[in-house]
Amino acid sequence: MANSDNNRRKFFATTLQSVGLTALGGLLWSGYTDEVKASPLVLRPPGALPEEDFLKACIKCGLCAEACVNRDSNKNKDGSNRDGTLQMAKGGDHRMIGTPFFIPTEVPCYMCDDVPCVPVCPSGALDALSLKSEEKELDINEARMGLAVVHKESCIAFWGIQCDACYRACPLMDEAISLEYHQNKRTGKHAFLLPIVHSDVCTGCGLCEQACVTEEPAIFVLPVEQATGKAGDHYVKGWDKKDQLRAGDRKLDEIETKTERSEQEASDYLNTEVEY
Ligand code: SF4
Ligand code: SF4
Ligand code: SF4
Repeated sequence: MANSDNNRRKFFATTLQSVGLTALGGLLWSGYTDEVKASPLVLRPPGALPEEDFLKACIKCGLCAEACVNRDSNKNKDGSNRDGTLQMAKGGDHRMIGTPFFIPTEVPCYMCDDVPCVPVCPSGALDALSLKSEEKELDINEARMGLAVVHKESCIAFWGIQCDACYRACPLMDEAISLEYHQNKRTGKHAFLLPIVHSDVCTGCGLCEQACVTEEPAIFVLPVEQATGKAGDHYVKGWDKKDQLRAGDRKLDEIETKTERSEQEASDYLNTEVEY
């Protein structure tokens, strides 16, 4: 009897252990897949390869983050180190664990002239060649870590309130971001000065996002793929000779979009009931 009790106890202990291990494995796996699923909105260091290639190349050594925090310009007045821009993702960060990223509202990228985070990367996950200027020198202005996007409804400059915090914070003022003048028709006598981001110059450093005065930043950096749309190759700017070259030898009627409605005269479809 004692023997069969022992066996039963052993059986239950083994079963509980396997259930426990399976549950733990499940938790770890779901944690892992959560981190991977959440990755498209992550901002990577300067020169990072496209996200999929970056994840394959990065060996999670942390040298970029170390170079970032230890850079000469990252000192307080008393000589102590400030927080670095680059963090290495850990569990719960909702990024691929062990990979470098940054959050502009915490610490933006200061666009260091010597870009110390890039040359130390041993794997090519941070591609120094992509940051080379015409003079073949590392140039942080070539970085495309992301693209700043303005949310017009929450940006108070679009309400007519004077604010140029993001504009003034930008290291590429008047190139990556400019202020556009518009008359305020509501008051008739005031002006709107609207922040406009120029996607061909913005590096995605996030200094504007950190400087924004609204409760949640009305200007924020997204990875370039998430911040931009795509018109598609079949739309050609008829007024732009360079863009027209893309159409090559194709005749105009081959590159026009034709639908049942576009075949009709405007007077036809405007005067009839439209069926969608
Ligand atoms: S360029 Fe940006 S990410 Fe690189 S070391 Fe400087 S602050 Fe850090
Ligand atoms: S230095 Fe390169 S390989 Fe190492 S963590 Fe940074 S990006 Fe990844
Ligand atoms: S992210 Fe903001 S501050 Fe940085 S370059 Fe772009 S517009 Fe300027």
